[in-house]
Amino acid sequence: MKDISFVRYSAETAKAEITSQFVDCYREVFAETPWHEWLKCPKCQKYWGKKDRPLIESWKFNHCGVEMVEFWTKDQVLSDLQHEITKKASCWLALHQEKVVGFCYGYPITINSLEKKLGIEISEKIKEQFGNNTTVAYQDDVGVLTPYRNKKIAKTMVNLRLKDFINQGLRVGIVRTREKPEPSVTFSWYQKIGYEILARYPGDDGRVILGRNLEDL
Ligand SMILES: [Zn+2]
Repeated sequence: MKDISFVRYSAETAKAEITSQFVDCYREVFAETPWHEWLKCPKCQKYWGKKDRPLIESWKFNHCGVEMVEFWTKDQVLSDLQHEITKKASCWLALHQEKVVGFCYGYPITINSLEKKLGIEISEKIKEQFGNNTTVAYQDDVGVLTPYRNKKIAKTMVNLRLKDFINQGLRVGIVRTREKPEPSVTFSWYQKIGYEILARYPGDDGRVILGRNLEDL
């Protein structure tokens, strides 16, 4: 990881070239394992990742009689990033030879707004576990391009984000991750460092909300 540098990112002040690279990196990361969010069928909403390329090439990029569409369009990702990475957010990019190869971001959010965003009840549980906090640190996406994984790049960015949260006086970190059908890398990793399960999405959803006091991390 000696050639990797880490830079703070803000959608408001970044050069267009960096933002465009960030969008590309985001789409590339989520098209790969374990997300497989590359192309989807606009009719049945099934989706496939880059690893399924031979199969979907054999279908000529069609499903249910219609052409597949991108899971994450550039416009959608750009609008999400501009909406979520505001001045209060903490966002870090990993660069290799001036190319964006990883990203990590999060932001302070009131518990009420977070409940709305995540579509699940967590306020009582947060109160029970961590006392009265009106604002928590929401730890949004972390992603690293496949060839750069397992080099502690994600860990470094998460630590930089953590420092930002603590400097902002935030005490509780919240993250949404996947427990089933297979625990994601982040699920295992956050559990190992003491994050607790605050809520599970109902049915077969498989996603969970984890939380931890940030002060003694
Ligand atoms: Zn379909």
